[in-house]
Amino acid sequence: MTTASLIQPYNTGPMKCKICGKEAIVKLRSYNLALCREHYIEFVKRRVEKGIKKFKMVRKDERILVAVSGGKDSIVLWHVLNELGYDTTGYFLNLGIEGFSDESQEVAQKFADMFGLTLKVEYLRDVLGVGIPELSKISRGKPCSLCGMIKRYLINRAGLEFDAVATGHNLDDESSVLFGNILHWQTEYLERQYPVLPRDRTLARKIKPLILLTNYEIKLYAEVLNLPHIVDKCPFSGGATTHFYKGILETIENEMPGTKVRFLLGFFENKAGFKVPQTRHLKPCKKCGYLTTAEVCSFCRLKEKVENQFNLR
Ligand SMILES: [Zn+2]
Ligand SMILES: [Zn+2]
Repeated sequence: MTTASLIQPYNTGPMKCKICGKEAIVKLRSYNLALCREHYIEFVKRRVEKGIKKFKMVRKDERILVAVSGGKDSIVLWHVLNELGYDTTGYFLNLGIEGFSDESQEVAQKFADMFGLTLKVEYLRDVLGVGIPELSKISRGKPCSLCGMIKRYLINRAGLEFDAVATGHNLDDESSVLFGNILHWQTEYLERQYPVLPRDRTLARKIKPLILLTNYEIKLYAEVLNLPHIVDKCPFSGGATTHFYKGILETIENEMPGTKVRFLLGFFENKAGFKVPQTRHLKPCKKCGYLTTAEVCSFCRLKEKVENQFNLR
């Protein structure tokens, strides 16, 4: 945990929980709602449940693979889903980044042990023969997009044995992505942006149950419950554009509380009227069957490149 507490100090005197009247630990301006510790925890769970129900993400009799990075979002996601009674298994992909990957894995494992949950671990080194550091040398530009592609591919592959794959994308992530996609009219991405994408042949169902919660709300939940999570960012991480968009939305939110959630939900509601997410233009990769727009998917092309460059064959 970082040093500064997220529990807000009040210069306007003590605040009372709107539900029980006890001392509040937080005031959520978007909802004009002050809550005590207990009712804050309840609030977060209800938000997740509301998101799941609203977008018909998953049922309690279905099995969920939770993609766990060890960061606050995925840890909170796993915790809440488990608390709500969903059938969950964790999945951790060790990317082979010195220090960072092993530390993240330890945290994810510690969390799983605390709650008696199962964590599946996969090592990129076992799959490709190399980790992200080596891959960043053979790829141009930032390794993040490569890393993103690898994660999507392997998480999807692991998720095919389950009814759904859950990821920790939150309201800030999704609204800033939406903002960027609209600014540049990335219509293809806009079409695919939805909190649930149905199973399609070799693509697992993808769900984003934290869609109605902000970064701050998630961090506070992790802090209040003292959930183990990794605070360090990936040493390769860039994402400057996303941070920039997040900053802009935060500025708007401070002036007009509740804008982020209205922006994102408004998009989903309006989009449902004219277009549903579809994957019809995709066809199976010649090598592995993963749905892609090319003959051979990016993962298989990367694998081939690695085998040639590192003489692993
Ligand atoms: Zn209360
Ligand atoms: Zn492939």
